[in-house]
Amino acid sequence: MVTSKSKESTMITSSEYKKRLSRLRRNVYMDGKLIDRDHPRLEGAVNVIAKTYDIINDPEFKEYEDVLTATSHLTGKKINRFCNIHRSMADLMAKQKMTRLTCHQVGGCIARCMGIDSSNAISVISYEADKAYGTEYHKRFEKWLKEFQDNDCTAACAQTDVKGHRPLRPHEQPDPDLYLRIVEKKSDGIVIKGAKVHISYSPIEEWMMVLPTRRLTKEEGDWAVACAVPADDDGVKLVVSAANYETSDLMGAPGPFGSADAMVIFDNVFVPWERVFLCGEYEFGGQLALMFALYHRHSYTGCKPAMTDVLTGAIALMAECNGIEKEHHVRDRLVEMISTSELCYGAGIAAAINGQKSGSGTYVPDMLYCNVSRRHAGVNIYHEFDALADIAGGMPATLPREGDWNHPEIGPLIAKYMKRNPNMPIEDIHRAFRWVQAISCSELAGVMQYAGVHGGGSPRMEQIAIMGSYDVEKTKNIAKRLSGIKVKDKYSFDRFGVKPGER
Ligand SMILES: Cc1cc2nc3c(=O)[nH]c(=O)nc-3n(C[C@H](O)[C@H](O)[C@H](O)COP(=O)(O)OP(=O)(O)OC[C@H]3O[C@@H](n4cnc5c(N)ncnc54)[C@H](O)[C@@H]3O)c2cc1C
Repeated sequence: MVTSKSKESTMITSSEYKKRLSRLRRNVYMDGKLIDRDHPRLEGAVNVIAKTYDIINDPEFKEYEDVLTATSHLTGKKINRFCNIHRSMADLMAKQKMTRLTCHQVGGCIARCMGIDSSNAISVISYEADKAYGTEYHKRFEKWLKEFQDNDCTAACAQTDVKGHRPLRPHEQPDPDLYLRIVEKKSDGIVIKGAKVHISYSPIEEWMMVLPTRRLTKEEGDWAVACAVPADDDGVKLVVSAANYETSDLMGAPGPFGSADAMVIFDNVFVPWERVFLCGEYEFGGQLALMFALYHRHSYTGCKPAMTDVLTGAIALMAECNGIEKEHHVRDRLVEMISTSELCYGAGIAAAINGQKSGSGTYVPDMLYCNVSRRHAGVNIYHEFDALADIAGGMPATLPREGDWNHPEIGPLIAKYMKRNPNMPIEDIHRAFRWVQAISCSELAGVMQYAGVHGGGSPRMEQIAIMGSYDVEKTKNIAKRLSGIKVKDKYSFDRFGVKPGER
């Protein structure tokens, strides 16, 4: 890792972030070539992360300072909230609000949630593992975190293993490397081997938090590993798939913004003990996997409403362009959208209110509310694009290209025939369709749709989490009472048997 920070301030500027990226070792591959991290295909993704730095110093966002920054519980210094460990319900709510607010500025994923979510998960589980085994993972983690916070670093979360033949467990796979594992323990550290997929923004972040992907059995201690790895470390290879808008001319719009996910190959990577936060304790490996998913689904209670806000705004804008704002079907679509975003956001607030302090002092959101929010967002994602396409008409799909709009002969004709709502200048109609094309009809839009379904774990995993944290027997007892069937258990209002007022 490269640092360039002064002692007084923990927060850096986006140009310092970019400077640090440029100093990383070249280990990013794209389309068969080794590329630099300032490659034009990565520019959109870099702009997303740059926004998380720029917004702190932007006078327009001064009133949100308490949302965007936090006080480190380790050093008492002011830090970017994306580096914070949640110590209270208020911290969880501020993280959710920060996520929605920052996603609004880039029109999609804000990228740094993987770092904050994996750090919080490690802070909870490393403490529990130490309590059970007398290890010192938590102390090591806090030492590493202090440096991370002091330097306002970025981290990707490398959780999802390639997984090989799905029905087989890690230790049953014909190739044991299909789930990342410890291949050697040495006096000064461990050696890990394997590959993680879909690792968002990893080509343009400085650290990778390596976590297990699933529950593990007692034969699977070698797969129970958590550690922090510099993104340009020896043996780390990133194979990137970047996604961007189709357009090159944004006509004054901010951005461009994009994404950069990667298959990250760990080819016998040495990790010194100082950065190993779990090593072999299989039951805590599973708990860590679930804890990251929980924090990440709580982040989704901020980013998914933001994404829906962006699409709701796009529907309203398209309705204005087309002069159909007052039509009933437009209002129906807007109400559906608002209901989705606010239900997801509301469940995130409920997750914070019903959250609990863990042994480490880190605050953990409620599992049920996080998962129902994430599920609701996931099942609605394609429906939201359907609503936008309904109101926009077909133009985002077939809009003449910028060159044609600017052509001396054809440009004025396009402008003449693209006119719609007489109250909107043709330049704004062009801007609106160009942007809606970018967010709904580009390679980036396709990635966001898949992320809407699978990011934070597949729908099946949400189903398992929801069933695991809901007492269906209690609802059956309600039905039995109402139908006159005798019930042994005493009625209790709460899902978990906690007395009202205790949460
Ligand atoms: C855009 C995007 C960004 C992402 N970013 C990150 C990131 O930053 N970090 C990270 O770690 N992960 C990330 N993910 C990964 C995400 O969590 C996974 O995509 C998700 O967990 C599903 O895993 P998979 O893609 O391997 O699909 P699979 O697990 O292969 O799922 C495909 C289907 O098979 C089913 N299935 C799988 N295994 C079994 C089984 N044993 N029995 C029965 N059914 C099974 C699933 O339920 C699903 O229906 C991202 C994903 C996307 C799409």
